[in-house]
Amino acid sequence: MEDFDVIWKKVVNTLRLEITDDTYKLWLEPAQATGIEDEKLLVKLPNIFFVRWLQEHYTERVNNILKEMGKELEVSFYTDKKEPKAPSPEPFSKPIPETSFLNSNFNSKYTFENFVVGQSNHFAHAASLAVAKNPGAAYNPLFLYGGVGLGKTHLLNAIGIEIKKKFPDLNVIYVTSEKFTNDLIEFLKNSRISEFRIKYRTVDVLLIDDIQFIANKEMIQEEFFHTFNTLYDRRKQIVVSSDSSPKDLGYLEERLKSRFQWGVVADIQPPDLETRVAILKKKCEAEKINLPEEILFFIASNIKSNIRTMEGAMLSITAYASLTQTKITTEIAKDFLKNIISDEEIEREVSLDDIENIVCKHFNLTKADLKGKKRTESIAFPRQIAMYLGRVITKHSTTEIGNFFGGRDHATVMYACNKIKNRITKDPYFAALVNKMIKQVKEGE
Ligand code: ADP
Ligand code: MG
Repeated sequence: MEDFDVIWKKVVNTLRLEITDDTYKLWLEPAQATGIEDEKLLVKLPNIFFVRWLQEHYTERVNNILKEMGKELEVSFYTDKKEPKAPSPEPFSKPIPETSFLNSNFNSKYTFENFVVGQSNHFAHAASLAVAKNPGAAYNPLFLYGGVGLGKTHLLNAIGIEIKKKFPDLNVIYVTSEKFTNDLIEFLKNSRISEFRIKYRTVDVLLIDDIQFIANKEMIQEEFFHTFNTLYDRRKQIVVSSDSSPKDLGYLEERLKSRFQWGVVADIQPPDLETRVAILKKKCEAEKINLPEEILFFIASNIKSNIRTMEGAMLSITAYASLTQTKITTEIAKDFLKNIISDEEIEREVSLDDIENIVCKHFNLTKADLKGKKRTESIAFPRQIAMYLGRVITKHSTTEIGNFFGGRDHATVMYACNKIKNRITKDPYFAALVNKMIKQVKEGE
């Protein structure tokens, strides 16, 4: 009988022609044939993760090769390393879905088909679609940012789902940065850091959600930095989402911030009314809900900044209607919204004083500066921002705004507003800054 070692080497040599060098080094080099028992070729691996991986990806192929070689054998991958956690009587039988390394855990509702495109998310959507069509190509990394409930997670999932559909063999992982963090800690605790690295550095597509949560966590950033570099060097696709632009990501290492800007940065703004209504309609279709158009319109007009809240309101109203068997009128919807919209959604009246405070704080100016006569850029520019804010988030007229900020006329205010608006459309970072100030003013910080 031929030596088991020779047989395995022949198998590996055949396999080697079909896979990349990286894959060979990673998965097959550490594998060792140790014997033949009951018509099984025993192949020993460093740990359970290798066993799962090779079982899933190579069992069939190896068995075929053995057959082609005329051997009455089947491969059996095993390890003598016990699984550190939760030992079970048959640890290798099948991966447990929740902890499976291969499970990408997509939310099947978050597809491109279910995503409504409007002006507010147009670019983010287009970039996501481009990535899904051609991962690892031009748009790498893709960095998506925007406020809570505006569709970042939805887009990340849509990218993952689409890629899996088009390229089923690609290894696509979706994780939140929290999950990434917990994973790293868990693997470290069990001295399995190399497995962690295998898990994250061998993917074809890494979709990492809410990266802002690794701010302030040096060790996690360090690990993520290397993960990023490895994937990037191998031309693997990376998609990152965050609540703010790379530049505004507080306690994040500069080298990471700069890498996030190597590819494409796309922001998602709160959708306009039309888009919000379209989103509600789409949701109604998906959930087979029947609400009159005017109610959808009413909900969309009243909840502006968070789509999740808006959808929640619609679902609650629907549930109420079906429970009480009433026909929903705008009056009922109005009453209802009062109860479910959280305080943050009920818009506080914003005053010009609020704006003045935030702008002064932001640019380190005094109120006298802001309202004064000086027209140097370092004062005039913040003043223009303040006027713009007055225009978009208060009900004051341009004349009132002009008066408030140092007795300026209507034309000056209009000029300022146009200038700022222009810059917002051209410069996403500036747009993010203005958004942040709007948020601060509204929250009365
Ligand atoms: P984020 O991750 O930015 O906080 P999510 O992706 O979780 O937001 O979106 C919140 C909810 O709003 C989800 O149910 C999502 O499907 C929905 N949503 C957001 N944007 C859109 C859109 N453009 N079209 C359809 N649904 C959307
Ligand atoms: Mg999210």
